[in-house]
Amino acid sequence: ASLVAVFSFSNDEENNYMDTNLSVDKRTEALLSKMTLEEKIGQMNQYNGFWNVTGPTPIQGDAAKKYKDLRKGFVGSMLNVRGVKEVRAVQKIAVEESRLGIPLIIGFDVIHGYKTLSPIPLAEAASWDLEAIKKSSEMAALEASAAGINWTFAPMVDVSRDARWGRVMEGAGEDPYLGSKIAKARIVGFQGTDLSKENTILATAKHFAGYGFAESGRDYNTVDVGTSTLHNIILPPFKASVDAGVRTFMNSFNELNGIPATGNSYLQRDLLKGEWEFDGFVISDWGSLVEMIAHGHAKDLKHAAEIAANAGSDMDMESNAYVHHLASLVKEGKVKESVVDDAVRRILKVKFELGLFEDPYRYCDEQREQNIMGSKEILDASLDLAKKSIVLLKNEKHLLPLKKQGQNIAVIGALANDKTSPLGSWRIAAKDNSAVSVLEGLSTYNGNKIMYAKGADVALGTPNFITEVKINQTDKSEFENAKQVAKNADVVVMVLGEHGFQSGEGRSRVDLGLPGVQQELLEEIHKINKNIVLVLNNGRPLTLGWADAHIPTILECWQLGTQSGLAIAQVLYGDYNPSGKLPMSFPRHVGQLPLYYNYKNTGRPTLPGKDVVFWSHFQDEQNSALYPFGHGLSYTQFEYENLKVSHKNKEVHVKVEVKNIGDVKGKEVVQLYTRDLVASVTRPVKELKGFELIELAAGEEKIIEFVLTDKELGFYDNNGVFIVEPGEFKLFVGGSSKTVIETSFEIQ
Ligand code: BGC
Repeated sequence: ASLVAVFSFSNDEENNYMDTNLSVDKRTEALLSKMTLEEKIGQMNQYNGFWNVTGPTPIQGDAAKKYKDLRKGFVGSMLNVRGVKEVRAVQKIAVEESRLGIPLIIGFDVIHGYKTLSPIPLAEAASWDLEAIKKSSEMAALEASAAGINWTFAPMVDVSRDARWGRVMEGAGEDPYLGSKIAKARIVGFQGTDLSKENTILATAKHFAGYGFAESGRDYNTVDVGTSTLHNIILPPFKASVDAGVRTFMNSFNELNGIPATGNSYLQRDLLKGEWEFDGFVISDWGSLVEMIAHGHAKDLKHAAEIAANAGSDMDMESNAYVHHLASLVKEGKVKESVVDDAVRRILKVKFELGLFEDPYRYCDEQREQNIMGSKEILDASLDLAKKSIVLLKNEKHLLPLKKQGQNIAVIGALANDKTSPLGSWRIAAKDNSAVSVLEGLSTYNGNKIMYAKGADVALGTPNFITEVKINQTDKSEFENAKQVAKNADVVVMVLGEHGFQSGEGRSRVDLGLPGVQQELLEEIHKINKNIVLVLNNGRPLTLGWADAHIPTILECWQLGTQSGLAIAQVLYGDYNPSGKLPMSFPRHVGQLPLYYNYKNTGRPTLPGKDVVFWSHFQDEQNSALYPFGHGLSYTQFEYENLKVSHKNKEVHVKVEVKNIGDVKGKEVVQLYTRDLVASVTRPVKELKGFELIELAAGEEKIIEFVLTDKELGFYDNNGVFIVEPGEFKLFVGGSSKTVIETSFEIQ
């Protein structure tokens, strides 16, 4: 005991970074002062560890070289190491074999859960339920941390307006306001209030910035946006992430207005670390330093290291640029040692905050891993959010909710019997076949007769994260059987859509219809039985024009994760009244993209009562979305009345009455939009500026209040400066961006 006392009260420079009485900043400085240049650069290096250190096969080749670097203290973090046994093994090398024993941070893509999956992030966004979304990230952190992980590369806060881009599944959709609220909920969910607790993990706001604006939705493509879009649409969720206390940022693969994000010093130094005062660190995207060569911005890897370091990319994920070249660049004076020090300070600080110096193995408890993985609490939260993420797009014949007794129900579609596809993309640790299928979900109700026919496969073979999904374009051999099954059914539930790996990274599409022969299957069944409930599984908005015109009931069920089938069954049977609202517009046709509700007017007048703008329209399609942003029905209806605006000091207070006029209890997302009518930089026709999720019993009425401050009423000018201009505003309220009541007000 006396030795411990001597140790912790020692003034000895050698040890004082271990003194927990000192502030994190002081400990960081103490450690930094003991490090060689190479050791510092090591902290800026992240390696992939996607193999078994503890397995029977000896580590060879490139991997063996990485372990040599680990022993020398030339690695600051590893990603893709998973499971307590593996994490302990790599951590042990860093801590026990390197000169200073600095622990590693262990990163992983915990995008919508670890082993237990919650709905894909776009689906979660459709819940508009910030508490449930926060809870989902808390559960993901709990499970991932129990597997030894202490850092997730999530949330993706990229706004996107183009459903062709496969990564829309990872984000919160098209709106910066909703996106900012969800970013905060996710970050607080992952990180909690105390990072040194073993059930919290570091979050990452990614991809900084503009990645969601890839031209034509082709992943990694050029991004060229004006300052107004950059500051008002793309950046707000990143700023909200800093305000929510996110500890890391990830930059991105794309170039932004000619400069790759990884080498973009305006974004990383001036804005993020300067104006926004972010004091965490920036990780590159996978190999994004080396990609600057192909972009035509760096002449070789060494040049890429120079540009990235100077631009403020603190840690290099798998380009091996810093570990090979940064030391020479410092010696040559091309990168100042103070730049390296700044990056290392940021990284070490976060390691201290995680409590890794006190106990590098704090996430490595096998018993905890066993107890937590797939626990009831985690499964329950996943089911809860899965139900809340479902969006009722259309319910014309009121086929839903299904009657619970005495019905013959035909279930058609390969996805109805699929236990893998509902898991969606980004599910590295979750096993194939671990989701509850729709058929399994329906079997928990036993009053009806269920008859199943596959109809047609969606994908061929067993798709995975890496290889392209092969779609069934020809095989209709099961159509006949499906028609027979549909013939005598009271209701036909058709489960159609995309395979889980058709969205995600590198999965852009130009055709957003139902893949393969599914559209034809739908039309064939429709000829036989009109009572169709179309249950959609997909990772992005689809073009559903034919279905909207012919199918009475459409339920958007995305990819809902581990509990998918249970959630869908509970909504189909009305045990959960659907409350989701679209976080992205569903286009009528791909040719409309990019398509978003917060567009700007042209100089051309809109013809009265029509969705036609004089000359600014398509000859062959309407301008509007098929299902707009914010749209989603319920088994009940809501009425909006008495919209009132008053001014208090500089605030605008809004009151509206919302009444449940149906005969069942239901939830509604009350949405408030504004329009700044005349501005020095033109403003969108509508912008979401407030929402509230409420529950009303049948017949119940509530007054909902909103307060608009400068934050909601201002905007960024073309120099990136936030301004509030006096003048007239319109204000709209309703249950979708196609709002039902409006008024106006003025600010002085
Ligand atoms: C993705 C990132 C991800 C990283 C690590 C990249 O390809 O763009 O979002 O975090 O890989 O897996």
